[in-house]
Amino acid sequence: MNTKTKLILGLGLLLFLIILLGTVSARYVNVLKEDTDNILVANYNTLEYTRNMLRALDSGTVDYFEKNLRLQESNITEIGEKEATAKLRKDFEIFKKYKDPSSLPTLRKEIYQIMEMNMKSISKKSEKAMHTAETANFWIALTGTLCILIALTLFINLPSNIANPIKILNESIRQIADKNYSQRVDIESDNEFGDLAKNFNIMAEKLEEYNSGNMAKVFKEKSRIEKLINNMTDPVIGLDENLRIIFVNEEASKILGMNATSMIGQPVQNLADKNDLLRILIQEIMISEDTSVDKNKPLKIFANGKESYFEKEIIDINITPTGEQSKLFVGYVIILRNVTEYKELDSAKTNFIATVSHEFKTPIASIIMSVQLLENKQIGVLNPEQINLIQSIKEDAQRLLSITGELLNITQAESGKIQLSILPVDPAEILNYAINATNTQAELKHIEFDIDVKKGIPSMNADRDKTAWVLTNLISNAIHYSHEHSKIYLSISKKDSNIIFKVKDNGDGIPEQYLEKIFNRYFRVPGTNKEGTGLGLAICKEFIEAQGGKISVESQIGSGSTFIVTLNSYLH
Ligand code: ADP
Repeated sequence: MNTKTKLILGLGLLLFLIILLGTVSARYVNVLKEDTDNILVANYNTLEYTRNMLRALDSGTVDYFEKNLRLQESNITEIGEKEATAKLRKDFEIFKKYKDPSSLPTLRKEIYQIMEMNMKSISKKSEKAMHTAETANFWIALTGTLCILIALTLFINLPSNIANPIKILNESIRQIADKNYSQRVDIESDNEFGDLAKNFNIMAEKLEEYNSGNMAKVFKEKSRIEKLINNMTDPVIGLDENLRIIFVNEEASKILGMNATSMIGQPVQNLADKNDLLRILIQEIMISEDTSVDKNKPLKIFANGKESYFEKEIIDINITPTGEQSKLFVGYVIILRNVTEYKELDSAKTNFIATVSHEFKTPIASIIMSVQLLENKQIGVLNPEQINLIQSIKEDAQRLLSITGELLNITQAESGKIQLSILPVDPAEILNYAINATNTQAELKHIEFDIDVKKGIPSMNADRDKTAWVLTNLISNAIHYSHEHSKIYLSISKKDSNIIFKVKDNGDGIPEQYLEKIFNRYFRVPGTNKEGTGLGLAICKEFIEAQGGKISVESQIGSGSTFIVTLNSYLH
């Protein structure tokens, strides 16, 4: 039987019994009232009239007797009462006529007869009322007891009947919420709770099935990603939000010289205490504002049987949990990019350039000296044509000498041995030099320069050649990454004691996430298909910073980039 029917039956029966009790009580109260009314109206009044008649006989008041006799005549209720009253009337009329005192006892006797008749009736009717009261008592007590019994049964059984299955279901739902999908409800009844339990068990079974399927999928994905990370040629280390190691790939375990399995689950700080390299790797995480380490400088690590260079990248991992708005930090991934090959190529190139430019410098200088000797009239007089030829050889040799000088500059920057030659110089002259050096390149792409040199720019103390090299490089890049028939905006301005050079192009711009990295050595924006080495901007930075200046970039995808060089005019 279901709970609803149970409730309807129980409460319905209770209601029926309460109504029955009410009706029975009301009915018996009515019957009792009728009985007493009967006694009152029918017999009590007669007793009153007969008593008055007796009193009237004693006092001899005939009118009073007459009045009560008339009232009695209209209150006949008992069998034989009518005849007795008629006889009394007849004898009273004779008495009234003859006033014979001997008839008084007869009248009194007849009155007593009527009185006795009614007295008997009163005792009969009160017996009947007693009987009615007893029957009422019985029925009221019976229905009352039934009501109490049913109410008691409902009181004891109903709350637990409803609350117990809800409690069991509630507990099971909590278990499911705690991901205990094997939880089942055991309610063996054919009511609504039984149905609910059955459906709950079906749901739990499906959740269990789904969960195990999902887990298998997650495990598959996990092992696929683990394989991928393990096969990466770059060392990778993963940390959770409590800085415990969650994964270490083979390359990482090789360069750290530690067993990957023994590292997993360990607090990285504990391992770093025993491993210098790991300590350097997590330095940035441990001390957030650590200025003692140059984050951009490649790390020199002994790996693969030789000295290798790695660039470190630390990525914060943030996730947005289901149903939540804010992000949750869940750990770090440390990636080391092996740049040894670039480093080796670069130093080979630097050595080569340094050697070649050094070797070129002496013969070029001797060519210039020989040409100057040829110009000497003591050696011989030259005709105008020869003078022209000598002049052009001298200019070319001078250019060659300055190119070799520039090449030496680059090698100095690359090897970290920058030699500065700070002298007063006109900023506009430096910009002009850079414009002349890149003019042909700009013409080839039909690019125009829009030059804006503010008035009153004072001369400044700077390394003329190196600053010119930087501007040449920036303009050359601007041309490189600009569309044909576009404009490049070049400006010099002054702010406080600073001279500011700006090179602005209308090219494709640089994605925001790479803005900080483009000044790193060998860094090229992924997808750049122009020829290049990724060294130019790094050397620019070194040349400018060596002079105490600053170089920065502002860029927006689609609307070009602006490179800003700031040098203090009163340098050194
Ligand atoms: P290279 O030009 O030889 O690649 P650079 O150090 O000069 O090396 O530049 C580094 C990277 O910065 C380039 O590869 C290019 O992706 C980006 N870059 C430099 N200048 C610009 C520019 N004006 N517009 C867009 N990207 C630029």
